[in-house]
Amino acid sequence: MSLQGGCMCGAVRYEAAEEPFNVTLCHCVDCRRASGAPALAWFSVRRVALRWTRGSPTRNASSPGVERLFCSQCGTQLTWHGADASGEIDVTLCSLDDPDAIAPADHTFASQQVRWLHLADTLPRYTRTRSEGTTC
Ligand SMILES: [Zn+2]
Ligand SMILES: [Zn+2]
Repeated sequence: MSLQGGCMCGAVRYEAAEEPFNVTLCHCVDCRRASGAPALAWFSVRRVALRWTRGSPTRNASSPGVERLFCSQCGTQLTWHGADASGEIDVTLCSLDDPDAIAPADHTFASQQVRWLHLADTLPRYTRTRSEGTTC
C-alpha cells in the first residue's frame, strides 16, 4: 500500500509506503491546540516507511519527548512521534490526498472530547491511549 499526502500549500509532500495501523480520531488537548480543530484523525506507519518526497517539515517539541512536524509555510500539521523506541510515526489522516482511503477504527483521549461534538459512530472510545485500554 502506498499513501500520498502533504500540506495545504504543497511545499511539503510525503509517501507512506506500507499498510497503516492504529487509525484513530484523537481528542486530546494537544492535538486540538496544534490544529485548531475539535479532533485530529491519525494513522500510524513505521518511521522507515514514511518518506518526504518534497520539502521538509519544521519540528515543534510539543511536550517532553514528543515532536510534531508541520509545514512552516502554511502551518499544516503532518506528523507526531515520540522519542521512544517504537519506531512508529503518526501521520494526520486528512493530510492525505485521499482522506477516504482509510478510516478511524477508534477514538483516543475520548475523555477530553469537546462536549458539543457528537459523533454517531459505534467505534471503541478509549479514555486515553489504546494501550491503557480503558474505554468510556
Ligand atoms: Zn505547506
Ligand atoms: Zn492527540
